[in-house]
Amino acid sequence: VTHVIGEPCIGKTDRSCVAVCPVDCIHDTGHDMLVIDPVECIDCGACINECPVQAIRPDDDLPQEWEPFVAINAAWGEGHDAIGALLQAHMSQVP
Ligand code: SF4
Ligand code: SF4
Repeated sequence: VTHVIGEPCIGKTDRSCVAVCPVDCIHDTGHDMLVIDPVECIDCGACINECPVQAIRPDDDLPQEWEPFVAINAAWGEGHDAIGALLQAHMSQVP
């Protein structure tokens, strides 16, 4: 289990979540949203209530439409461009 940042974060990069993460695993992608590195996240849940738009959830409790964001968050290890490509692919499928 890890925690995942989903669609509501897009365009709302206030970073309130970043300050409370004890392991600094919430990262700015440079693509208008932040992501959680699943390799580093210790699942403490501290970030959930900090988010003003409820954009953070544990990965075993995700709305179906957030499914693509599991890969988008996990792409942190592959770099900003990988995240940008996945985000773009996702957004082009949203009606
Ligand atoms: S669940 Fe805890 S460790 Fe994981 S991103 Fe949130 S604050 Fe950081
Ligand atoms: S607090 Fe929520 S909206 Fe703000 S940067 Fe973090 S995940 Fe995104």
